[in-house]
Amino acid sequence: MSLNIAQILQDDLITPMVRKTAYGLATTCILGAAVYAGYCVAAPEKHIIRQHRHPELNDQIEKVVDSLKITDDQLIHIMHILEEEMSAGLSPITHKQATVKMFPTYVRNIPNGTEVGQVLALDLGGTNFRVLLIDLRGNARVELTSKIFVIPQSIMIGDGRHLFCHLAECLYDFMLKENLLRTGICYPLGFTFSFPCRQEGLASARLTSWTKGFSCSGVVNEDVVKLLQEAINEKGINAKCVALVNDTVGTLMACAYKDPATAIGLILGTGTNACYIENLDKVGTWNSDYDEPKQVIINMEWGAFGDNGRLNLIRTKYDEEVDLSSINPGKQIFEKMISGMYMGEIVRLIILDLLQQELLFLGHRDTYGDYKTPLYNRGGFYTKFVSTVETDEGIKFSNTRRVLEDIGIHNPTYDDCAIVQHICRQVSKRAARLAGAGLAVLVNRIGKSDVTVGVDGSLYRYHPRFKRNMERCMETLVNKDVKFALETIPDASGIGAAVTAAAECRSGKGAAMVACVAGKPYLVNSIVSDEETADYEKINS
Ligand code: ADP
Ligand code: MG
Repeated sequence: MSLNIAQILQDDLITPMVRKTAYGLATTCILGAAVYAGYCVAAPEKHIIRQHRHPELNDQIEKVVDSLKITDDQLIHIMHILEEEMSAGLSPITHKQATVKMFPTYVRNIPNGTEVGQVLALDLGGTNFRVLLIDLRGNARVELTSKIFVIPQSIMIGDGRHLFCHLAECLYDFMLKENLLRTGICYPLGFTFSFPCRQEGLASARLTSWTKGFSCSGVVNEDVVKLLQEAINEKGINAKCVALVNDTVGTLMACAYKDPATAIGLILGTGTNACYIENLDKVGTWNSDYDEPKQVIINMEWGAFGDNGRLNLIRTKYDEEVDLSSINPGKQIFEKMISGMYMGEIVRLIILDLLQQELLFLGHRDTYGDYKTPLYNRGGFYTKFVSTVETDEGIKFSNTRRVLEDIGIHNPTYDDCAIVQHICRQVSKRAARLAGAGLAVLVNRIGKSDVTVGVDGSLYRYHPRFKRNMERCMETLVNKDVKFALETIPDASGIGAAVTAAAECRSGKGAAMVACVAGKPYLVNSIVSDEETADYEKINS
């Protein structure tokens, strides 16, 4: 039986309906008001700071924070400059003076997921040195066993021979533990070496300069594969280095093993760098054959963008200070505004500046000048603290309080916490937008309708909003007809070296290596978890 309209409109039916609607409306209003109040309280930089502080103080803080803001128009301008710098790096006439070096790697065969075999890999990227055994199983399946080793600072800045000897010792330890020594097999080894190199072949590359806190003597201009192989041979280890890649190339290759649309590799870790697949006819510096595939991966070394002063318009006094107190002043200007090695330090310098202007930690004057606390020491504010602070939602600021406690500020006020979080957000957002603008240049240049970017590095992985901020900015800057995606493959930079060696084998050029691994039944690989590593920033303090 169905009700007709007349029945519905009967008084006794209307009354409860009106009452219900009224209750509903009232509840919505109350809930809405509560949510809005909650939002006001939970949007710290807009409300809390302003409620409890003299407005003039906030204006002064905003002035400092404003210096970190980069508009979309400025980003577009930076994209144009980057394109010019890329052309300079690719041209044989200007390459020598170019800041963005655009090194052609010898990596031309992109994996397609069918490669198989067991390959060792070493990944020297800055903070972590990893040894990996990678089992490529085809169908885009990979299994790996790995171990992280710490590089002591004495080795990072010591004699180059000691560095390679240390790497070989770590490899020996790993192979011993995995029962790979004296098996009668010479294992192929891919070397992920993430420092600027002039590559002369797939397994030959000369270091052009150290970055990221390394400065070992006797390595610049030397062939690092040769130095590594000598150290391996000296220890009698049954492994041969057949490919050298940097971490960006490794990341691109590892991602391409799973997703063939991958055309760009990006690193956001201790340092930052990017690579992409370029057509050979655009690479003026290319000095090898023009056979198929007519493409090569270009290692941009984009960390050096701005070393000629062209980014000065967006640099702040904090960027200048970070640069001047680094071990490579004037170098890696773009990297110093973006990467993990410097981000925490930028935040620390801003906090110190605000403190000295008496705009922050007003209740802590008694602890001023306690110069032993991390706040007063270079590297005292780790980049992982930026992530921790930004993880806080709402007004409790429990993570921020913990971080402030760690750097020597006890019992901070809400204002203090909100301001510190505001600073962290702006510094990391600026970094994400700069990296996003750089990627947008590449995505637009590649000219395909679908482009995947392989991304790796702890800053990208662990920062709560780096990816989102980068994507948002790219949505504005990438051509509207192009679809892009940012993908992360676990252990990409290590796997990539192995995949590179294997892709070369598939192309027929590395047949000897395939023979070397094909006869061996798969080892049972246990996935071991990586051990926590020491904080890298310490090396800079
Ligand atoms: P590498 O670049 O040396 O190969 P990673 O990719 O692990 O190594 O990057 C390490 C850097 O990432 C550290 O120097 C640190 O600055 C930064 N980092 C580590 N943990 C975090 C985190 N939780 N949030 C943001 N950055 C982090
Ligand atoms: Mg790395």
